[in-house]
Amino acid sequence: MVDDCIFCKIVQGTIPSKIAFQNDEMIAIHDINPAAPIHILIMPRQHIASTAELTEQNVPLIGHMVLVAAQLARENNLEDSGYRIVTNTGADGGQTVNHLHLHLLGGRHMTWPPG
Ligand code: 5GP
Ligand code: ZN
Repeated sequence: MVDDCIFCKIVQGTIPSKIAFQNDEMIAIHDINPAAPIHILIMPRQHIASTAELTEQNVPLIGHMVLVAAQLARENNLEDSGYRIVTNTGADGGQTVNHLHLHLLGGRHMTWPPG
């Protein structure tokens, strides 16, 4: 728990959010400012700032997060149309909240490369 981290506050429940999934290692919430019809954020309960902080110890956690993202995509009927799982790291990556999270985006066509 990092005091000035909004996602730690969401994990603690002190900032309300619309929860899509949770278990003992992660929580998935609907993005407050969705960039697509389906926009879900999957984050560990533990504060990890970004992919830049990941260690070998976090490999199972990241695997589970990707699997949950894929399960949420299935539950939201995105498998036929497709979807995108993305994580932003640092300033050039466009990261605005320094608590690791995957974005699950779907329900519209995504362009490549991203802006
Ligand atoms: P980043 O820019 O770090 O990759 O993604 C942060 C995401 O968190 C953004 O898409 C933003 O809309 C979302 N976000 C920021 N604050 C809140 C909040 O208080 N609640 C929810 N549900 N999403 C938030
Ligand atoms: Zn945090």
